[in-house]
Amino acid sequence: MRIPVASGKKSYQVDPKLQSRILEKARETGAKPKPKIAEPTAQEQSRNVANVRLYNIAQKTLQTSGHLETKEADQPEKPKTGANSKYISIIDKIKDGISSFVKSIAAGIKKIFNVSNPDDPTGSKSKIVDSMIVNKAGVKDTSRINDILVKYPQEQLQHSKDYGTKIYVLKDNPGPNDLKPSDLGFGSKTGDGRDWNNVTGGYNDSSKVMYLKESMLSRTDDYARGTILHEFSHSIDHSYRNDPKYAAQWSAKVDGLYQAAKSNQPGHKFVDGYAATDKYEFFAQSNEAYYTDVKVPQDPSNDNDTYYSIDNLNRDNLQNKDNATYNFLNSLNTNGVDKTLEIQ
Ligand SMILES: [Zn+2]
Repeated sequence: MRIPVASGKKSYQVDPKLQSRILEKARETGAKPKPKIAEPTAQEQSRNVANVRLYNIAQKTLQTSGHLETKEADQPEKPKTGANSKYISIIDKIKDGISSFVKSIAAGIKKIFNVSNPDDPTGSKSKIVDSMIVNKAGVKDTSRINDILVKYPQEQLQHSKDYGTKIYVLKDNPGPNDLKPSDLGFGSKTGDGRDWNNVTGGYNDSSKVMYLKESMLSRTDDYARGTILHEFSHSIDHSYRNDPKYAAQWSAKVDGLYQAAKSNQPGHKFVDGYAATDKYEFFAQSNEAYYTDVKVPQDPSNDNDTYYSIDNLNRDNLQNKDNATYNFLNSLNTNGVDKTLEIQ
């Protein structure tokens, strides 16, 4: 039986509560008093301006030649003040030069020797992911998707591919001839009333399509990584639910874990509020958390009552809140599906 399920995350606006917490944290940790320095003389000032101009030219050259990453929030360099500023500025330039030189060498070595992702030493997982990406919306480099999805075990990636999962990259602002979620089996609205065209990623089981908006490929934040992990988790879940070999055991196990958390059994707690939506979101959120090993700040007040909380979605938190689900996902990862589900 195929269960038509469409799912998507809340659009990734940082909620005001989280934002104020981040700002508070920044104030706590970032408020280092700056040492007072003497006002620069007119001569020093003009020298500083010249230094800054040189620095900016050098920076620009490095950027246009691809040796430095351009950051969105790059601010124009402020003139340095004080008697030692000339030397500081020279040292900065040398440091920048060395760092960009090292970076370009590292990139070259990576290219020549094809240095592999530690999650995919032979590159075989990446090949499976590549074969699922059927639409790139003009994006040349989709390796961000591979880099994240190779966290999953090869047998799960292969199972999802064999199930027929296809990955589409879609334009953020589609023109009349561009593909939109509504062209790929997604309705016009998500289950909770959001316009699919404004959702950055989704999975639809009736069409077996996972889509990502192209902007997600250049974002390196927790939200973008989480969305890629989350949406593909739906595909893994459905691929086993709909495989006659695994359907009964898989559903019994996942649904049992969901029910245990829903009825507040001791030791079973949803990893975040979105996981409580239904058994499908439960699997996707828990699996996303299991494969997220970065440390993100914990907020005890931000618990099950939150709709969606990126800072709850990590392996440690899953282990603490829902140890049985952690053990199940850990066994899938380390022992494989057959052994975990005791399938002969
Ligand atoms: Zn979902």
